[in-house]
Amino acid sequence: MRINVADLKKTPGAQTEVSLEGTLPSFAEEAVQEVTLLSPVKADLRLKNIDGVILVEGQIRVELSLSCSRCLEKFSQKLEVAISEAFSETGDFPGNGREEEDGINFFSGNNIDLTAAIRENLLAALPMKATCRQDCRGLCPRCGQNLNLAECGCQRQEIDPRLAGLAKLLERK
Ligand SMILES: [Zn+2]
Ligand SMILES: [Zn+2]
Repeated sequence: MRINVADLKKTPGAQTEVSLEGTLPSFAEEAVQEVTLLSPVKADLRLKNIDGVILVEGQIRVELSLSCSRCLEKFSQKLEVAISEAFSETGDFPGNGREEEDGINFFSGNNIDLTAAIRENLLAALPMKATCRQDCRGLCPRCGQNLNLAECGCQRQEIDPRLAGLAKLLERK
């Protein structure tokens, strides 16, 4: 997802608005759960030249497929994430780089490639434990039945494992 900044970078103080649409490389390596993009990534951005540094701010939107942490079913979720990234031009780096420590991104030439920055912002916004809905009942710990779909009939008393020994004692009486 690239933006041409040939004009913008010549004029300190200048700003412009850009809407972008594109796809991203897979999240398979970094994401703790299975995540796939169901839509192109859309970005509505404002670009500003502040003393030669290009500030990119705006919103990115995408629809994702996530796996529910309780019932393991896939479900789709729309995600909208604010982005705010600074890009500094450098002749030293060929292409685009990213300096993690102070949060500055680098670009060279007339294009800023936002792919890495957008990807990182989306990754950071992913829920740690996604659930398909708030009252998802999950899987039966005994037989694995998806309890959202049907009741399996298993006895499911939730016993704290630390109390399980005590429960057995009580059963004997
Ligand atoms: Zn679920
Ligand atoms: Zn069951």
